Amino acid sequence: MQSITVLGATGSIGVSTLDVIARHPDRYRVFALTAHSRVDELAEQCIRFKPDVAVVGTAEAASQLSARLQSAGLTTQVEFGEQALCDVSSAAACTTVMAAIVGAAGLAPTMAAAHAGKKVLLANKEALVISGQLFMDAIAASGSVLLPIDSEHNAIFQCLPLNYQRQLGHHGIRKILLTASGGPFLDRDVSTLDQVTPEQAVAHPNWSMGRKISVDSATMMNKGLEVIEAHWLFGAAPNQIDVVIHPQSVIHSMVSYADGSVLAQLGNPDMRTPIAHALAYPDRIESGVDTVDLTKIAQLNFRPPDYLRFPCLKLAFDALHAGGSAAAVLNATNEVAVEAFLDRQIGFRKIPELIDAVLNRLPVEPVTDLGAVLAMDKSARLLARELMHQ
Ligand code: NAD
Ligand code: MG
Repeated sequence: MQSITVLGATGSIGVSTLDVIARHPDRYRVFALTAHSRVDELAEQCIRFKPDVAVVGTAEAASQLSARLQSAGLTTQVEFGEQALCDVSSAAACTTVMAAIVGAAGLAPTMAAAHAGKKVLLANKEALVISGQLFMDAIAASGSVLLPIDSEHNAIFQCLPLNYQRQLGHHGIRKILLTASGGPFLDRDVSTLDQVTPEQAVAHPNWSMGRKISVDSATMMNKGLEVIEAHWLFGAAPNQIDVVIHPQSVIHSMVSYADGSVLAQLGNPDMRTPIAHALAYPDRIESGVDTVDLTKIAQLNFRPPDYLRFPCLKLAFDALHAGGSAAAVLNATNEVAVEAFLDRQIGFRKIPELIDAVLNRLPVEPVTDLGAVLAMDKSARLLARELMHQ
C-alpha cells in the first residue's frame, strides 16, 4: 500500500491525482493533502480522503480548515507554512510524494521528498529547472525513485529502455523529440500578439490546466522549461533535444534511436494517464482515460517551432546552454512576468522581453547549493519587477 502526500491537491494535477487514487483504494491511501488558499476545496477533499495531515498557506486558513474538519468529525491534523510542507513530504509514514505545487513555491517540499528517499512523482517542473543538478544529486544520494508526470517526459520515460541510465549514447539513442501543441496562438498573426488577453491565453486548445502553465503554453515557455527538465531527467545535451510542434497533442513525445526507429507514446490529452503510469509503475492500472480513437483524429500534423513567434523557447535553450544559475533566473523572471500578464499589468509580448532583459543583466553563477540558487531567484524577481514598467 502506497501512502501518498499530494502537494498542491486542489490544483489541476492534484485533482486528477485524487481521481486516479480514488479508483484504487486497495493500492493507495492519502497521507497528506496540501493547498495554498482554497480552504473549501481542501476541506471537501479531506472529508473524502481522510488524510492524516492537511497543510495550508497561512495560520488563518489553517484555523478555518480546522473548524471545518472538526465539525465533520475528522481527526486530520492541520498545519500551515513551508516547513509543514517539507514535513509531510519527508514523514516516515509517507512513501510517495506527488509534487504538484506550481512554481518555485514547490521547490523546498519537493527537495525534502528527494532527500528523504521518497518515490517522487514530479509535476512541478519549475522545481527541477531551478535546482537542476542539486535535485538530481539528492535523488541519487537517497535512492529515491523519480518518475516524471509531465506528459512529454512521462512519454519519453515510457519510450526509453528499461535500464536507462541517463546517457543517451550508451543506449543507442540519437535524440529526444519533445512534442508541443503550439498553444492557442500557433496560427494567430504575430503582429497582433500584443493584444491578446489573459482569457485568450489560458484557453488551451487541448489541455485543461492551471493558469500559469496555460500562459506558459501560449508563450511556449512551457516547452522551454520542459527542454531543461528533459536535460536533467534524461541526461540529454541541448543539441540532443528537438522540439516538434504537433497541434493535436496525441503523440506526447518520442525517442529516436540510432537504427532509425522512433518510439512514441500516444494517448488522449488527459493527465490521468501519466499520473496512473507513475503511481503504479512498473504495473499498469485503470486511469479513467479512454483509448485514443485514431480514426476520429484522422490526421497527425507536425512542424518545426518558429522562434519569432515563440521567443521564450529560444530564451530557454539559451539559458540551458549558459548553464549555472541562468535557468533559475529564466524561471523566476517568467513567474513574475506571467503573474503580471494575468493581472493585466503587462502585455503578452512583454513576457519574453522582460526575461531577456533580466537574463542579460544578471551574471551566470555556478549552482553550488540551494541557498545560492534561491538568492539568484530573489534577485531575478526584484529586477524583473523593477524593469517591468520601463
Ligand atoms: P494549479 O494552479 O491548478 O494548482 C497549483 C497548486 O499549487 C494548487 O493546489 C495551489 O493551492 C498550490 N499552490 C500554489 N501556490 C502555492 C504556494 N505559494 N504554496 C503552496 N502551494 C501553492 O497548477 P497545475 O496546473 O496543477 O500545475 C501544477 C504543476 O504541475 C506546475 O508546476 C505545472 O507546470 C505542472 N504540470 C501541470 C500540468 C497540467 O496539466 N495541469 C501538466 C504538466 C505539468
Ligand atoms: Mg508538458
